[in-house]
Amino acid sequence: MSLELFEQGPAVYIPYFLISLLLTMVAYGAFPLLFALIRRSIISKRKYYVLCYCFNFLLMMLFIVISKEASSGFPYLLWTWVFTLSGTKILKRRDVFNDVQYVSKLRDVCENNNSFIIARMQGDNVAPKRNSNKKKLILTIFISVIYLISIGLNVIQYLKGIEANKTISNQAERIINVGKSITTKKTEILNLKNQINNLEKEVDKINAINLKLVNEIYFYRERAAIILDDDSKRYHTYSCEELISGSYWILNIEAAEQFGLYPCPKCH
Ligand SMILES: [Zn+2]
Repeated sequence: MSLELFEQGPAVYIPYFLISLLLTMVAYGAFPLLFALIRRSIISKRKYYVLCYCFNFLLMMLFIVISKEASSGFPYLLWTWVFTLSGTKILKRRDVFNDVQYVSKLRDVCENNNSFIIARMQGDNVAPKRNSNKKKLILTIFISVIYLISIGLNVIQYLKGIEANKTISNQAERIINVGKSITTKKTEILNLKNQINNLEKEVDKINAINLKLVNEIYFYRERAAIILDDDSKRYHTYSCEELISGSYWILNIEAAEQFGLYPCPKCH
């Protein structure tokens, strides 16, 4: 039963559990009971047990293949054991049971009883042997241990399932957070792209202004003659080293040359 089903409440998981239990009982009980009811020739207990456990094992493997879900094997062991015991009783009642152990046990009991009777007749205080009870006890302990191991494995599987669900839940939450973070980053990237577009427009404007200024500088450089207030008869450009301080005039070059001035060799 999955955790999701369990979380949906008893109105859902109790009918599911009961139907599942019924189907499991029918599946694992069909062969042992039908075989015990139909069988006509004599069969030994061991052979009957082997047949039942093998058939139901194949049935369990078929269930695993169909449902694609692992099984602890506990339902298989439990219900095969229960229905095989019931089938054994049916076989005994129908007189088609040839249990060597059963016959030998009966023989032992008869012999023990005979010995006991003879001993009692002879005056000895001897109790009849109880070997069969010991074997039953050992068998019961063995089967109980197997069932306890199966229950333990089931519990471990259930706990692992809970842990796996927690891990999946954490991973899903992390994925949601990462998704949110990606959305935030995308918004930030979009804003930065808008800023870049605006800055590129400003750069274009500044470049246009620069071009105008360069043209203006070129105009003054080619057309203007700077004349110092001295007797040198030369005209200069703005970057000339002689143009340190003092008063000056600015004329166009043609006018300066008409006044008899000539270009300074240092800056022209
Ligand atoms: Zn000069």
